[in-house]
Amino acid sequence: MEILVPSKCMHPDWGASVKVVHLDRLDRYYAEVCIICTLCEVPMRFIGLPVGFMMNLPTCSADGVVASLPCHPIDEMMPEEKVKKESLELLVVDGNTEEH
Ligand SMILES: [Zn+2]
Repeated sequence: MEILVPSKCMHPDWGASVKVVHLDRLDRYYAEVCIICTLCEVPMRFIGLPVGFMMNLPTCSADGVVASLPCHPIDEMMPEEKVKKESLELLVVDGNTEEH
């Protein structure tokens, strides 16, 4: 953490940047979010997020200023949802075969 001296800026206004990353091979998305004071460019640090990177949980960078938020388009199934759906379909197919 390099920002230990309080600035004289009253941080009157904040801006945010969001970068969405798609991991093609895994078909997973996450959003990298940063918030900075538009006047002095001091970043916010996120509170309560574990440091690191996880596919299914929000995390933050070691200095806390970049949040990584797993996300997915609402009109698409996530890879594990596709597997679950296919498993259920197989169960239904198996159930039907057993009846005959
Ligand atoms: Zn400021």
